[in-house]
Amino acid sequence: MKAIIIGAGIGGIATSIRLAKKGYDVHIYEQNNYMGGKLSVFEQDGFRFDAGPSLFTLPELVDDLMAFQKEESTIKFPYKKLDESCRYFWEDGKQLTAYTQPEKFGAEVEKVLGVPAEVVVNYIAKSEFKYEKSAKIFLEKSLHKSSTFLSKEIIPALLNIYKFGLFQNMNQVNEHQLKDSKLVQLFNRFATYNGSDPYQAPGILTSIANLELNRGTFYPEEGMYQITDRLTKVAESLGVKIHLNTKIEKIAVDNKKAVGIYQNKELIPADLVVSNMDIYPTYRKLLSDQKQPENTLNQERSSSALIFYWGIDREFEQLGLHNIFFSEDYQEEFHHIFKSKTIAPDPTIYVNITSKHTPSDAPKGMENWFVMVNVPSNSGQDWDKIIPEIRTSVLDKLSRMLGKDIANHIKTENILEPRTIESKTSSHQGALYGSSSNNRYAAFLRHPNFHQKIEGLYFSGGSVHPGGGIPLCLLSAKIIDDLSPEAK
Ligand code: FAD
Repeated sequence: MKAIIIGAGIGGIATSIRLAKKGYDVHIYEQNNYMGGKLSVFEQDGFRFDAGPSLFTLPELVDDLMAFQKEESTIKFPYKKLDESCRYFWEDGKQLTAYTQPEKFGAEVEKVLGVPAEVVVNYIAKSEFKYEKSAKIFLEKSLHKSSTFLSKEIIPALLNIYKFGLFQNMNQVNEHQLKDSKLVQLFNRFATYNGSDPYQAPGILTSIANLELNRGTFYPEEGMYQITDRLTKVAESLGVKIHLNTKIEKIAVDNKKAVGIYQNKELIPADLVVSNMDIYPTYRKLLSDQKQPENTLNQERSSSALIFYWGIDREFEQLGLHNIFFSEDYQEEFHHIFKSKTIAPDPTIYVNITSKHTPSDAPKGMENWFVMVNVPSNSGQDWDKIIPEIRTSVLDKLSRMLGKDIANHIKTENILEPRTIESKTSSHQGALYGSSSNNRYAAFLRHPNFHQKIEGLYFSGGSVHPGGGIPLCLLSAKIIDDLSPEAK
């Protein structure tokens, strides 16, 4: 049986491996001339930059896929667990390093902020508890099959539902548990891991912190792109055929069954079709003659990002792999992103420097900076005016907080912004994670991984269940594996 996958994002590649392992003859069609979608790479003037994701958690989900490679293959995916997860900087000069062992992080919080260590240790334990009890239902299974709600995992989830914080927002949970304003800001930031607003997103999302601060932050030896590269090799070892530079125009449906795709107006038949494209253009363009799930498609989009890739001609000892420079008014920042759809004058800045771990990512004595600010998804803002303004405030803030005129040290520059994220990956409005999780029903309003009326049509990737980010995209592939028929 033949399966077609539209899009070579990480969710598409993972689905290709799983379907090939099931015995399907799998073909991936990708509009770009490269694999990975958002999880891609580029080089410029001797600097290597991971273009999109920089934070890697739950590596076992990649290991699971590596294990599917052909027996005689020797594809390796080397990565390491990091001791340190992130360095945080505030305008008043306070600096805090977060560690991936709760006790060590607690001791650092006590030393720097004067908050007893057990406050953080207990918080992380609760975060782990919520994740452990909810993930098997909300992340690892389809929410659109009655079997999920009849499974044995539903009992612990239901028994503990009152502990999940579903009726409070993240900020309320964090203020209640942490009290200290800097700690609240630090833990509120985990809402941005799926492009949401901690002042609106449900308290259950406080479970995200445990992934980084307890289960661990990891780093692939050759950088994030290694994930795309190795999984592509595993797919190829299983016989998956990859067609680059091939944009798909339509999904062919006959008698309520997906029967293939159209490319250049020509029908390419298949027994099963998976769209790894964003769900919005999938419906609006590829399924335009089918009923549109308006409620799902019109959900608020997640945030997007403005990224400056800077080759820096010196080293900064005080910085690590992941660094955050916080704004003074966090609530105002999210109000700008989600309510007024603009960017606050003093945004929080994330700086990722992979040359800290892989020195060959930058020329000797230099660093590759990925400098990111969360911004609203594209609804027609005047980005040509906004981007230079934000560039100036980012440079001012970093120069002020690091005590060096950063502009003088930029040797090379590239920029990614909502419009280019959309043009490169077809992600509606350039959103990073599909729809936001700014209300407690968001998980149920995301599109299922299958079409409820069209047999043989499936959906993977960050805009459908269970949501955005590498781990969840990999889980979408696993759910399709569970739901799809064996190949005959
Ligand atoms: P996508 O990457 O969205 O790819 C979809 C693919 O479909 C693209 O290659 C596109 O070209 C192709 N396509 C679209 N239309 C067609 C068509 N008609 N025909 C053929 N092909 C088509 N996640 C994390 O886990 N950690 C992070 O630190 C993190 N940081 C991020 C930072 C940035 C700047 C960005 C952009 C994203 C970040 N994310 C992060 C999110 C993560 O990158 C995404 O959730 C994930 O990579 C999305 O994968 P996907 O499978 O949905 O496919």
